[in-house]
Amino acid sequence: MILPLILNEMVTKERILEMKRAHSEELAQFREKLYVRPRLRQLFFELTLKCNEACFHCGSSCGAARPDGLPVEVYRAVLDEVKQNFDIRPLMLCITGGEPLLRPDFFEILGYAHSQGFTWGMTSNATLITPQVAHRLYESGMATISVSIDGLEKTHDRLRGLDGGYRLAMEGIENLLAERDRRYAEPAVSPGQQENDQPVTGQQADWQHVNRPDQPVEGKRRKKPFRAIQVTTVINHENIHELDALYAIFEKMDIDSWRVIGLEPIGLALLRPELMLTPEDQRRLISFIYEKRCEQMPVTYGCSHFVGFDYEREIRDWYFLCNAGIYTASIMANGDVGACLDIERTPRTVQGNILETPFTEIWNKRFELFRRPLSRMCEDCRDCSYERYCAGGAHHSFDYESNRQRICLKGILFDEENL
Ligand code: SF4
Ligand code: SF4
Ligand code: SF4
Repeated sequence: MILPLILNEMVTKERILEMKRAHSEELAQFREKLYVRPRLRQLFFELTLKCNEACFHCGSSCGAARPDGLPVEVYRAVLDEVKQNFDIRPLMLCITGGEPLLRPDFFEILGYAHSQGFTWGMTSNATLITPQVAHRLYESGMATISVSIDGLEKTHDRLRGLDGGYRLAMEGIENLLAERDRRYAEPAVSPGQQENDQPVTGQQADWQHVNRPDQPVEGKRRKKPFRAIQVTTVINHENIHELDALYAIFEKMDIDSWRVIGLEPIGLALLRPELMLTPEDQRRLISFIYEKRCEQMPVTYGCSHFVGFDYEREIRDWYFLCNAGIYTASIMANGDVGACLDIERTPRTVQGNILETPFTEIWNKRFELFRRPLSRMCEDCRDCSYERYCAGGAHHSFDYESNRQRICLKGILFDEENL
C-alpha cells in the first residue's frame, strides 16, 4: 500500500514542478515584453526623509533633522501629469518616507490624489496613527497600509531606536482596525459575490493584494478605503528566533497579511554585517513562511528574491519578478526619479529629476538600466540554469560597482540543476 502512495506523491510533485516551470516560462516571456513596453503600475512618493524612529536598517537613511520632500504644488503637478499621460486605473500610488505622517500637508497631498481618482497606499511606522488620524486616512481614501513591527517589544524598540515605539505602533494598528470595523459594520458580502482577483506579481502582491491568499477581500470593500491592513517584519540574524512568538500575536489580530522579509544589504544595514541572515537563517525564514501558508495563514515573503521551484509560488502569491523600472518608479524626496526606492541611489541608478524633466519623459526615454536582465551584467549569472526565471535577481541587492548580485539563494534554498 505504501508504494502506490509514494509513487502518487512523486507524480504529483513532478506535475507541480512542470506547472511551475510552464508558469515561469510564461512570466519570462512577459518580462521580455515589459522591457520593451513597460507599464507603470506602482508609483512611489517618498514624501519626506524625516522620521521619529531611527531604524538601524533604514534604506532611506532617515532621521529627525532631515528636510521635508517637495512642496505640495509639485506633487499636485506630477499627479496631474501622470493622470494625463498614463492609465491610472491599475496604478497604485505608494506613499512612503521617512514617516509620511510627519508631513504637515500629508492630507492635503493625499486628499488631492484621492479627489483625482488615484488609488493609494502607504508604509508607516504607525506611531502617529491615533483614532483621529485613522479616521482621516479613511476619509482620504487610503486603500492599503503596511505597518512595520520588527520584533517583540524590546527588540522592536531597540532595532527602531524609539522607546515605546512598539506600543505606539500596536495602538496605531488597533486604531486602523477599529476604524475599519466601524466603517464596514454592515453585513459582509457572501463568498459567491466576491470578485476574482487576477494573480499579481512581485511587490504588487504587497500593495494590491495583501489580503489573505485564501480569502479574497470582500467585494464590497475591494474598491473602498482600508481594503488591506498589513504588518511587515524585517527579519535579521538576531530577531529570527522571535518568529513564532510574533506569529502568535498577529494570528489573533484581524490584519489582512503579515509580510516577512529578510534584512537586505542596503542603506544603513550595510554597516551591520553581523545582522545579515546566514544561509541557515534564510532556510529557516523561508520554511517558516511556507509552513504557515500551508496552514492557510496570510504570511507572505514579498518580491525580494528568486527562491527556486520548491518555494516559488508557495511563499508569495505569484512568482519572482523584480518590478523595478518595468512596473515601478519612484520619486524621491528631492525629486530624483528611480526605479524602486530600495535600490541604492547613485548617478547610475537615478534616472532624472522631476524638477528638471517631466516624469513622463523620464519614464519613457530613460530607465535602460532596468529594462534588460541584470544577468547580462553579472558574470556569475551567465551560465546559471535558472537565469531564464531569475534574470539575475533583484535590483535592490545588486552591486552596480562590481556588477555582482549580492544575494543569490542558489546553493542555499535550491541547487544548480539542468532544467
Ligand atoms: S525604516 Fe522607516 S521608520 Fe525606520 S527610520 Fe527609516 S523611515 Fe523611519
Ligand atoms: S528592487 Fe527589490 S524591492 Fe524593488 S521591485 Fe525589485 S525585487 Fe522588489
Ligand atoms: S546565479 Fe544569478 S541568475 Fe542564477 S539564481 Fe543566482 S542570481 Fe539568479
